[in-house]
Amino acid sequence: MSTAQQTTLDVAALRSDFPILQTSVHGKPLVYFDSAASSQRPQAVIDAMVAMEQRHYANVHRGVHWLSDRATEHYESAREKVRGFIQARHAHEVIFTSGTTAAINLVARSWGDANLNPGDEILVTVMEHHSNLVPWQQLAERTGAVIRAMDIDDRGHLLIDSIDDLLTERTKLVAVSAVSNVLGTVNSLEEIIAKAHAAGAVVLVDAAQSVPHMATDVQQLGVDFLAFSGHKMCGPSGIGVLYGREALLEAMPPFLGGGSMISNVEIDRFTPGVLPAKFEAGTPPIVAAAGLGAAVDYLQAVGVDRIHVHEQQLASRAREVLSAEGDIRFLSDGSAEQAGIVSFVVDGLQSLDLAQVLDQHGVAIRAGHHCTMPLHKRLGISSSARASFYLYNTVEEIDQFAASMAAARKFLKRGVGRSSTPSKTQ
Ligand code: PLP
Repeated sequence: MSTAQQTTLDVAALRSDFPILQTSVHGKPLVYFDSAASSQRPQAVIDAMVAMEQRHYANVHRGVHWLSDRATEHYESAREKVRGFIQARHAHEVIFTSGTTAAINLVARSWGDANLNPGDEILVTVMEHHSNLVPWQQLAERTGAVIRAMDIDDRGHLLIDSIDDLLTERTKLVAVSAVSNVLGTVNSLEEIIAKAHAAGAVVLVDAAQSVPHMATDVQQLGVDFLAFSGHKMCGPSGIGVLYGREALLEAMPPFLGGGSMISNVEIDRFTPGVLPAKFEAGTPPIVAAAGLGAAVDYLQAVGVDRIHVHEQQLASRAREVLSAEGDIRFLSDGSAEQAGIVSFVVDGLQSLDLAQVLDQHGVAIRAGHHCTMPLHKRLGISSSARASFYLYNTVEEIDQFAASMAAARKFLKRGVGRSSTPSKTQ
């Protein structure tokens, strides 16, 4: 097979897997360009969750009955699928959480509280999502640690060389996103991890925007912690993953206490259970896990490498067609490795107004700060518009988006509807 054949997705066939893509919005076909916020789910994922509800459901790990054993098998098979998807050595290094945010908070509360002291440093980047900033700020408040940040250049790339000056003997943790949810920049994790480890720091990667879109191998990366969410990878909301290296997880105290996470309880003390139960207190997301397992199967069948290439093609096309008007500023220049995320501001227009007019054309994009207020401040803006793509988006949709952008500009630049919701009949 030629490279072109290997990388070309049969998008029409894939689209038929996603019932929601048949939706009409304001009488127009839905163009869904908000997958960075949350992706859509194929029928196979919906079916897996329905089957769980209808045929396999019971609580897991507790029952002595047949149905509980079946539910446990499904739950643990989802963990095994995720293990394979990210190439973890052991299934018990995969902890199910409610999402990326919960996974990062788990590390901050458990590993962070146990390991950080006053004056210790946490190194982040200016492009982080609030979920990879606020838990560290809270940790710093609790422990007296200090937060430092790597900056970006004017092209929207991480100033990677700055890490040499920012890493000190006090740096205990480097917390960095694999892909910026705004800039679409793919960060050079290998270099960051190698330098952080050489300085004796532990590395957490916020992989919310990378695991759904490109191949991930935690062993090859040598990463210590990696967090991601089911709902951004064709799976359901309410489930996410913390990957942690076995030795680190073993040494960490449990974060949430309750049922399932213990091996013994007395009236005044408890002994934690083994991994992964130690970090999965309470009844876990049983149905969502079935959906996540099916999402992994689905993405593997399509091929994440091919998805990445497809999205890059869509992003390049979007940049090309959107720049035709000359009044647009992209928040990153797209010159380094990019994911399928294109964020921009249009001269003289509010991003929210733009998104609302596009919605009237059936085009769903995101507008605002995208949970990256420090990044927006760094860029000298308070909000931006973001179009984000996934395997089910097409070149035709990009062209539809560009045509809707032209119509939206015309409408808004006439001053009609400026800073207010456009008429629903527009
Ligand atoms: N990190 C990044 C880079 C994200 O894009 C997001 C969600 O947009 C998150 C973290 C938070 O994910 P969740 O809301 O699923 O916990």
